[in-house]
Amino acid sequence: MTKPQPISGARNPLLADWTAAYGLPPFAAVGAEHFRPAFEAALAEHRAEIDGIAAEIAAPSFANTIEALERGGRSLERISNLFFVLGGADTNDALEAVEREISPLLARHNNAIYLNRALFARVDALYRRRDTLGLSAEQARVLDRYQTRFVRAGAALPKSAQDRLAAINERLASLGTQFGQNVLADEKAYALVLEDADLAGLPEFARANARAAATERGHKGKHVITLGRSSAESFLQFSSRRDLREKLFQAWISRGESGGATDNRAVVAEMVALRAERAKLLGFASFADYRLDDQMAKTPANARHLLEDVWSRARAKAAAEREALQAMIAEEGGNFDLAPWDWRYYAEKLRKAHYDLDEAAIKPYFQLDRLIEAAFETARRLFGLRFTPVSVPLYHPDARAWEVRDTSGRHVGLFIGDYFARASKHSGAWMTSLRDQEKLLDDIRPVIVNVCNFAKPAAGEPALLSFDDARTLFHEFGHALHGLLSNVTYPLLAGTAVASDFVELPSQLYEHWLEVPEILQTYARHAQTGEPMPKALLERLLATRTFNQGFATVEYTACALLDLDVHSTPETAALDVTEFERRDLERIHMPAEIMMRHRLPHFQHLFSGGGYAAAYYSYLWSEVLDADAFEAFKETGNVFDPATAKRLRDCIYSAGNLRDPAEAYKAFRGRLPTADALLKKRGLDNFAVEPAAP
Ligand SMILES: [Zn+2]
Repeated sequence: MTKPQPISGARNPLLADWTAAYGLPPFAAVGAEHFRPAFEAALAEHRAEIDGIAAEIAAPSFANTIEALERGGRSLERISNLFFVLGGADTNDALEAVEREISPLLARHNNAIYLNRALFARVDALYRRRDTLGLSAEQARVLDRYQTRFVRAGAALPKSAQDRLAAINERLASLGTQFGQNVLADEKAYALVLEDADLAGLPEFARANARAAATERGHKGKHVITLGRSSAESFLQFSSRRDLREKLFQAWISRGESGGATDNRAVVAEMVALRAERAKLLGFASFADYRLDDQMAKTPANARHLLEDVWSRARAKAAAEREALQAMIAEEGGNFDLAPWDWRYYAEKLRKAHYDLDEAAIKPYFQLDRLIEAAFETARRLFGLRFTPVSVPLYHPDARAWEVRDTSGRHVGLFIGDYFARASKHSGAWMTSLRDQEKLLDDIRPVIVNVCNFAKPAAGEPALLSFDDARTLFHEFGHALHGLLSNVTYPLLAGTAVASDFVELPSQLYEHWLEVPEILQTYARHAQTGEPMPKALLERLLATRTFNQGFATVEYTACALLDLDVHSTPETAALDVTEFERRDLERIHMPAEIMMRHRLPHFQHLFSGGGYAAAYYSYLWSEVLDADAFEAFKETGNVFDPATAKRLRDCIYSAGNLRDPAEAYKAFRGRLPTADALLKKRGLDNFAVEPAAP
């Protein structure tokens, strides 16, 4: 007789051994119904491991406490990784239901670890004698990070405060899931269906994309514009139908603010209040103070200082840009003031007129497959990596995989690219992983995923990107390299597990190589003729680098300031989200013709989970670093300089969280960065700083 087995590994593929190549999950065998029981089994397994560590009789040692923590939770990790890859890139109603059930359970599980007094007593005892333990530099860093995590979670607080924190964390997890699902629901529900007369101004590639979207949305034979960024932005850029631009724009900026079941305003208000309460319990004045305490910026004041410097210059540049666009409207005999739904359209026209540059003429040169090759070639020249396509079963037919090897032929990892938009995918672009690098259990190589939302072409047509899309591809690939090149022992420190105002350095820095002539001349080839982009066109394209940067900087920086403000405000009881946003924009003198890149009701960086809550400034903070870091290559006269590339790899791309971010940067550059290169890159260096807004 054997004991009854409530959950059999044989019946649940998630709990069986994963025997596919590269440790990939058995995608084809996995259904939504497998996740709940698998999560329950994995949570129970990890709980038993944690209880064992906390109840250990032997005195705490690095091995029986910290290393034991690092060895635990492996089933939970692989199941979570798979679940969140699918939940982001290929979800459905059944998976969404599991996500709503499971997110508070995961929060409760985290609470049970980080609010466990017996466990924290062991970590704390080790931390207090850290100098006597004979630890390696990496081990000391791991111990330091655990101590910080426990303290920041509230492990040292009295029981009553801990109980409240636990309740807050669970509620925040549920709200974050709901927020993301609401935005996706609003995006799925909307389609701007175009009749032939509505296509005015749209170039062929935009029409082709709209036909493909129509087929996917069940309007075969028509043209459909969706609220996905590529689709919506290219319509706003090209459609000469001002009425339709306004209609689409209003729908786009109203995501999460429908007034119906998917309205996110109450969700935002509750999340802001709960985050503020949590920060107070932990001894901080606001959530922003709490969040930034463990970032490179350290304080909201430091982040704000950078944002406000850039903000006043950006507004001045945007004002000059607005004048030029308004003049163009007047020249055409238009009798109206430039509105937010006009900006992209007239900016595109002005770009065409001034630089003889036309997005529709550039686009055939940016083929997705050639740009993937360009990203690989850059990684070969900088880091000696080689990418070979492999045929392995994945979760969706549009996802592709490449095996990554170094110059000696050693296996580095697996890279998965999932590039096309679809209704089952959340909007945006991101990097994630199915498996992270480590050397603790074994020499484990990473499996890294890039997800994008490029418009999918009709069958048989090449996928064409905008220059912005190409930049996104390089950006996410930079994150992917941060995961692939990771070279640490302990999983806690692997790859992108760094401060959020440092994590955009590897991604944003990589964007610089897209623009170097060696790469563009080779890989920007016309989809029909195969000809490289003519040199004159290439030069004109690169000359427009700072064109419209006032607009781009304003739409981003307003969001970053609003994020700090909403996460610093003491008025969190019954927060009126629309009113707060309106007053905040008034305070910073937001130009009326520019809309924030993300409004609060659909600001997924802040509220779909909390990855960038009070940390949206990170992109600009990291841009100071990346602009300065690329100068290090330029100063050598060779943008692929081997010695600089080696330092970059050793100190940044392969170093995970081995060091404090400022120290890591100094090790690479020999000094801390200055903002000069950033201001020059955005064309803001010639715009004077006005006194900061009150
Ligand atoms: Zn990024």
